[in-house]
Amino acid sequence: MSNFVVPAAPTVSLPVVGSDARFPVRRVYCVGRNYVAHAQEMGFSGREPPFFFLKPADAVVPAPAGQAIGIDYPPLTKDLHHEIELVVAIGEGGKQIAAADAMRHVFGYAVGLDMTRRDLQADMKKQGRPWCIGKAFDQSAPVGAITPAKDAGDIAHARIALQVNGETRQQSDLSQLIWSIGEIVEHLSNAWTLAPGDLIMTGTPEGVAAVVPGDRLVGSIEGLPSIEVRIRG
Ligand code: MN
Repeated sequence: MSNFVVPAAPTVSLPVVGSDARFPVRRVYCVGRNYVAHAQEMGFSGREPPFFFLKPADAVVPAPAGQAIGIDYPPLTKDLHHEIELVVAIGEGGKQIAAADAMRHVFGYAVGLDMTRRDLQADMKKQGRPWCIGKAFDQSAPVGAITPAKDAGDIAHARIALQVNGETRQQSDLSQLIWSIGEIVEHLSNAWTLAPGDLIMTGTPEGVAAVVPGDRLVGSIEGLPSIEVRIRG
């Protein structure tokens, strides 16, 4: 059939709530510092324009509803942090999309974790080098089942939370986003052409902290299936 000199990488995909069909992942865009209190805990004012980084599609680990998954504690770090985030799934591509038109391009929403090797990220920041090693490592993006937008309720005002071993570490509300979902889509689509299959991790609220092997993380957003992730040693 195909004529490749090495095996082609498989398509990473996510389950879709209420469907047997799956969502194929193309790119994973991430927004930095999109909640004031998190920007402040990272030493910034919270009043800057949005900025973006990427994770490879195969960093995504599907976390089906009602099922605990495991991710490996990654190499090189001594400070693996959790960042609970709303994930926006793009269903219709485009460029220079106005914020007011953004919802037409959104297929649905999911709960995700932007796992971060904070020590490596901090070192790269200090040196003015790219963040890839801190953010874009293997299994760095557990993402739950995608809920179609029409079934997700009032996502712009939903509660978002992360518990570690039953204790709440992060808790906020999506109304606290500095840049709204529509504004993120507008900014992103001015810089890149969005396409079906793109995911956008929209930033994390305050309370980021370290996890260790054996920890059990439960991420939740009102109206979406929760995710449960165990850190393997
Ligand atoms: Mn993040």
